[in-house]
Amino acid sequence: MNDYLIVGSGLFGAVFAYEAAKKHKKVKVIEKRKHIGGNIYTESIAGIQVHRYGAHIFHTDNQEIWDYVNQFAEFNRYTNSPIANFHGEIYNLPFNMNTFNQLWGVVTPQTARKKIAEQRSILKGKSPKNLEEQAIALVGTDIYLKLIKEYTEKQWGIPANELPSFIIRRLPVRYTYDNNYFKDRYQGIPIGGYTQIIEKMLSHENIQVDTNVDFFEKKEHYHEESKKIIYTGMIDQYFDYQYGALEYRSLIFETEQMKNVENYQGNAVVNYTDKETPFTRIIEHKHFEFGTQKDTVITKEYPKAWKRGDEPYYPVNNSENNHLYKKYKKLADQQEQVIFGGRLGQYTYYDMHQVIHAALKLVQEELGGRR
Ligand SMILES: Cc1cc2nc3c(=O)[nH]c(=O)nc-3n(C[C@H](O)[C@H](O)[C@H](O)COP(=O)(O)OP(=O)(O)OC[C@H]3O[C@@H](n4cnc5c(N)ncnc54)[C@H](O)[C@@H]3O)c2cc1C
Repeated sequence: MNDYLIVGSGLFGAVFAYEAAKKHKKVKVIEKRKHIGGNIYTESIAGIQVHRYGAHIFHTDNQEIWDYVNQFAEFNRYTNSPIANFHGEIYNLPFNMNTFNQLWGVVTPQTARKKIAEQRSILKGKSPKNLEEQAIALVGTDIYLKLIKEYTEKQWGIPANELPSFIIRRLPVRYTYDNNYFKDRYQGIPIGGYTQIIEKMLSHENIQVDTNVDFFEKKEHYHEESKKIIYTGMIDQYFDYQYGALEYRSLIFETEQMKNVENYQGNAVVNYTDKETPFTRIIEHKHFEFGTQKDTVITKEYPKAWKRGDEPYYPVNNSENNHLYKKYKKLADQQEQVIFGGRLGQYTYYDMHQVIHAALKLVQEELGGRR
């Protein structure tokens, strides 16, 4: 009998497994992929740590979470400062004085603010009702047209004036020459990749890990052999989609090793913001760790509508889906044996620090005491 069966070896499941094992619980982790780690999985290609499921940059303002994750790996001082490429024109992100200077030649915050205020005036003081109006209200028409509109439409597959404004409510806009995307106090990439973090968490003697195993192949059996189940898969799938399927956006990653190319694009992340380029970004993985290898590895990221069987990357938290999720959540709350966690179990976009926080909170509720 397991004290805990954990469905999914992503960050949520691994943190819970590690903490429960430390408290002498017998834990079994099952994972349907052939490797552990969920979406933070990284693997070495030509000596470069490749982020298999999209670029992952760790950032947090919470010292406890930062100290926690640093137990499992040493982090470097990588700072996320992506670049936008619009038909070959290059702009710094997030929107800051460098971007304003590249667009309009303005040099001072006062002239940048004036320029944006002029462009914003086409809204005539109306409060923004969709993403298009929200973007224009924040950064004016030029930035909206070159750096937001077509990129966002590629990402979501919906015209920007039909997307809800909340998606970009927190769009970072700075009137300083600061290309650091995140405002958090702590930021970095684990030297040697993310997989080691999960490996260390799951290597406890009280934890058994089985990969290539889908919970739904032996659902009844797992219920019988476990006192409790921590389920980090899709919540609607657990309930056999009885109210219908929740929507996601999916992605296709096209990874290429380039021999004898030491530096392909000069930055880890380049966003392609025009609609003619079919992918949204190119990641050059070596730059996350300031690599000096003679080859490079790049990944093109193509957004894609999700259908059953595809990898569900981003929940589409519009009002219809949120309403549907609430119905599933009600069912979930009635399950005494099962706890739903992580981004798929809670149908929420979680960053890594938030996942760790949520898993540690559950540990506290379930197992109590100090770690
Ligand atoms: C493209 C992309 C980029 C991101 N970039 C960042 C970033 O820069 N910074 C940041 O902080 N966060 C980032 N994130 C978020 C980060 O990936 C998540 O916070 C984190 O991976 C969530 O962990 P999880 O355990 O909840 O889910 P997951 O990592 O998805 O783990 C769930 C696991 O459960 C397994 N599973 C599902 N169903 C079953 C089943 N039936 N049987 C067995 N196993 C099952 C899955 O295979 C998976 O391994 C990004 C996410 C994406 C998609």
